[in-house]
Amino acid sequence: MQAGNSKVNLLGLDRQALEAFFSRLGEKPFRARQLMQWIYHRGVTGFENMTDLGKGLRLKLSEYAEIRLPEVADEQFSADGTRKWLLRVDAGNSIETVFIPEPDRGTLCISSQVGCAMACTFCATGKQGFNRNLSTAEIIAQVWLANQRLGAVPGVQRAITNIVFMGMGEPLANYKHVLPALRILLDDFGYGLSKRRVTVSTSGLVPNLNKLAGECDVALAVSLHAPNDALRNVLVPINRIHPIAELMAACRNYVRDQDRSHAHITFEYVMLEDVNDSLDHARQLVELVRDIACKVNLIPFNPFPGAVYQRSPPETIERFGEYLWNRGIVTITRRTRGDDIDAACGQLAGRVQDRIRRARRAPERLEVPV
Ligand code: SAH
Ligand code: SF4
Repeated sequence: MQAGNSKVNLLGLDRQALEAFFSRLGEKPFRARQLMQWIYHRGVTGFENMTDLGKGLRLKLSEYAEIRLPEVADEQFSADGTRKWLLRVDAGNSIETVFIPEPDRGTLCISSQVGCAMACTFCATGKQGFNRNLSTAEIIAQVWLANQRLGAVPGVQRAITNIVFMGMGEPLANYKHVLPALRILLDDFGYGLSKRRVTVSTSGLVPNLNKLAGECDVALAVSLHAPNDALRNVLVPINRIHPIAELMAACRNYVRDQDRSHAHITFEYVMLEDVNDSLDHARQLVELVRDIACKVNLIPFNPFPGAVYQRSPPETIERFGEYLWNRGIVTITRRTRGDDIDAACGQLAGRVQDRIRRARRAPERLEVPV
């Protein structure tokens, strides 16, 4: 094992990988559990403070390993309580992480890539293009930092109860790094979240969706947005490679697989005025999803500079939702949160100018850089 520049960032290792790491150091595997408890339960990242590890091991750890977090470049507060962090992951790349508090839960929306290659035509991240995949450590660091910023205290119920991969990027296009991150989120020695409280949202990368079905049990949201191939080819271009019939087959397989007898899929459907919001579209949608255990989430389109679409009027969204309800499909209209700080769905682009567009300044004590 090499020291120096090749230090391993331990935030990127799930329990199995961490056990292998300790074996290579000549240590017992249970050290992995101890270390994870320090990092994820107590929020401690300095090896010198991990008092049950023994001095020799702590020295070895600081020689071969590190716990490296991205820099918090900015923090914004929405009038509705939503918080958004701009994290600099390297000199040229930033990502965004959003916390959405609700009365009965706190949802952290995390990014999986810098930008996105899927090029959905209604999405600010898609417009920005693709820069690179995030590492597992960069994905998990978003949760660690948000917990710290939200004042998590060991042993006390955390503000973050749910995690959704609905920030920047297509999580299944970064499968290799997202899978270990999911394992850390679900692991009792990691964040210990229940599988229903961790949601992967995908635009429909079918091969990796099928892989996920066999490898990890988490909630699934599918960005459908159109009920026929002709329209979906335009809105969600990955549809040209994996058309709706293929995607629906993967969805059926996902709910059938593993221990998913109570599982359902959430279909996301962005409401674009005069594009996908007619009752005929609703009729086609019912036909598509009626035999799948699912609910439909209608998302009012969130505008961004240069967008070519308009948000459907509230009465159109209501009429569309009612049509689905009346045909037995549980349909929820997502409330737009954090749009005053460009933190709503599809508005994330890791833009530098965000730093000068602050809706409300953070109180002084929260300005301390990590
Ligand atoms: N890439 C993944 C997850 C990130 S996007 C996916 O596409 O599922 C999270 C959700 O926001 C997706 O359903 C996406 O389609 C939706 N979205 C993107 N741009 C939007 C916009 N401008 N307004 C409303 N929702 C949008
Ligand atoms: Fe990528 Fe999702 Fe945006 Fe499509 S909607 S461009 S998949 S982030």
